[in-house]
Parts: sequence; C-alpha cells; structure tokens
Amino acid sequence: MSNPSLLILAGDGIGPEVMAEVRKIIDWFGTKRGISFDVTEDLVGGAAYDVHGVPLSDATMEKAQEVDAVLLGAVGGPKYDKLDFSVKPERGLLRLRKEMDLYANLRPAQCFDALSDFSSLKQEVVSGLDIMIVRELTSGVYFGEPRGIIKEGNERVGINTQRYTESEIARVARSAFELARKRGNKVCSMEKANVMESGILWRDVVQEIHDAEYPDVELSHMYADAGAMQLTRWPKQFDVIVTDNLFGDLLSDLAAMLTGSLGMLPSASLGAPMANGRPKALYEPVHGSAPDIAGSGKANPCACILSFAMALRYSFDLGAEADRLEAAVNAVLAKGIRTADLLNTEGVTPASTSEMGDAVIAALEESL
Ligand code: NAD
Repeated sequence: MSNPSLLILAGDGIGPEVMAEVRKIIDWFGTKRGISFDVTEDLVGGAAYDVHGVPLSDATMEKAQEVDAVLLGAVGGPKYDKLDFSVKPERGLLRLRKEMDLYANLRPAQCFDALSDFSSLKQEVVSGLDIMIVRELTSGVYFGEPRGIIKEGNERVGINTQRYTESEIARVARSAFELARKRGNKVCSMEKANVMESGILWRDVVQEIHDAEYPDVELSHMYADAGAMQLTRWPKQFDVIVTDNLFGDLLSDLAAMLTGSLGMLPSASLGAPMANGRPKALYEPVHGSAPDIAGSGKANPCACILSFAMALRYSFDLGAEADRLEAAVNAVLAKGIRTADLLNTEGVTPASTSEMGDAVIAALEESL
C-alpha cells in the first residue's frame, strides 16, 4: 500500500521557517515510528505570485485536491500589500478553502500546563482547558446574497445577508458530533435564535441531527453572546462548540486567546469525506506570516507542529501519535524552553525557531 500523501505549502514570511521544523518532525516519524508520508512541496501566497503571477496556480490547486492532506505555513507580507485584490496572497488560501469545500473549521483552545500562567485569565480558570470550536466556514453572512453598498435616497446602505440551508447546518453539526464522540462527548451549539430566523433554523437542525444520529452525545444550546460570556467566565464547562461563520470567527479567536500566544495555536479545516474515507483537509497555524520577525529565527514553530499533530489525528487516524507529539511540545515547555513570544521575564535567553524544533525532537526521542 502506498504512503499517505501530504502537500506542504510553506508560503511567506515565517511560513517556511516554521515548516522547516515540521519537516524534521515528519522525518522523525518516518525513521523512528515507521510512519512515512509522500510529501510534495509547492508554492502559495506571495511566493506563488512571484513565480506564477497568481497566489495559487491551477496545478497546485489540482495537487491539493488529490492529496490526503494539505499543510500550510502562512501567506502575506508588506511586499504584496499594494497588489490588486484578486492576486493578493490571501486569495490563494481562500481559493484552497473554497475549492476544497472545507466547511468545518476546527480551532482547539488547549492550555499547556507550563503556560497556564501566561493567560490573561486566572490560572484556575484556564489550567487543564481543552475545548474545540467548530466554525462553519463556507456559508453564512460572509457569503450570503444580496450583498453590497447601495444608494437609498441620499444615503448609502451596506448590506450583507445571513443565509444557511438545512444541509449546510447538518453537515457541520455532524462534524461536531463526530468530534465530540472522540473527546468529551458534549456539544454546545451557539446561535442567536432569539433574534435571527437563521438562528432558529440552526437550532432546529442541530437538534434534529442529534436526535436522529447522535443521541448518545450530550447537546446543549446557547445564545452566542451568552456563550462569549461563559467562555471567559468558566471555559472548562465546554467540550465541543459548534457555531456559524460569523459567531465562530469571533468566538474562536476569543477562546484561542484564553490560552496565551498566537505562536501556539493550530487549526484544521475539514470538508466532505473523499473516496478513501478521509476528509478533505487543510491544516495551518492560526498566525500569519509575521513580517516583523521573519528571517530573524524568532518564530515559534509550535503552532505549525501542532497543526501537523491535528493532521495525524484527523486525517490519518493516528491519535496516539498525535498525543505523543502534543505531549512532546508540553514536555519542552515544562523544561522552560521557550521562544521569545512565550517569555514575559527579562534575562532568559529565548530559544530560536530551530532550537525549539530540535527540543521537540529530543522530547519525542524521550517518549520512545
Ligand atoms: P501575524 O499573525 O502574522 O502576526 C501578529 C503578531 O504575532 C506579530 O507581532 C508576530 O510577530 C506575532 N507572531 C505571529 N506568529 C508568531 C509565531 N509563530 N511566533 C512568534 N510570534 C508570532 O498577523 P499580522 O501581523 O496581522 O499579519 C501579517 C501578515 O500575515 C499579513 O500579510 C496578513 O494578511 C497575513 N496573515 C496571514 C494569515 C494566514 O496565512 N492564515 C493569517 C493572518 C494574517
């Protein structure tokens, strides 16, 4: 049987720097765990624009459709700020998400023990926190029609439309219930059914899918504004949260920051199952290309490394190996090895990007 395939799109800025550390880890799994991937590398974002004049070539898009998973670094940078909107680096990422139809965006908020004093919240509120926000990514108010800015009499009117079909709600609800079964078996669905018809439908459909297909999973419903309050008051009450595109955009950023640095946050975007049963999948750190530190060796590679851990778990059914990698990151932090973004004390020398990657490899070795 052939190895599972992985397309690596390192992108711009710190993207290639953090991805180099993931490559070391992929090699480690090959030599030490006998888990090998057929890895192809290609260009996205500004790097693709420089070569092809577009932020994602058709050939790269085709490859992305064929592989078992895509791992992306980051795109963008000041060099490309003045480009036409249609060829901006970010359009490459949007094209991937759209054409792969990645409708479920998974954003974990997990507190690593050694970083529990790094949150702006009290330690007891965040220590041990492990929640997953599932955000609907391909519909809702960011895509609904009609939209635009029109003239009404003497003034301009800005219009966006929140629109969800039953099937769009049902498929992301299934993603959330499936995930919950592999975690704490609890889903909280968030919308604004008190003031929005799309929220009423959202609540109804999530409940119907639950009752028909996932009665074993504990389901609750919450208004999204109350959800934001509860997330900062006592986030540990949640396991999986499922919500729409707009509320998910805000709530996932809020939840992610409960745990500290942007340099630690992975994400996954999943679509429908392919012929081999694996979901279409794109894994990427939440952070951008960080032009302010690009090229200085200061980038924290953990978000990208943890994105690869998500790939092991969700694309390749290697949950135990994902646990091993996450535990290795935790062990490195527990030893006090930190990149600059994780240090709030003077006088401690930060680890460089590659030193952090090497420390994770050393911790993986210790796990054997
Ligand atoms: P950013 O995430 O790149 O950086 C925000 C801040 O966090 C910066 O100070 C940066 O140094 C720091 N930071 C980010 N990642 C880090 C890491 N791994 N280790 C240490 N520090 C880290 O966001 P921005 O500055 O708003 O955007 C910069 C560029 O990235 C823009 O062109 C933007 O469009 C693009 N962007 C891309 C993505 C993506 O590729 N998914 C996401 C967000 C922003």
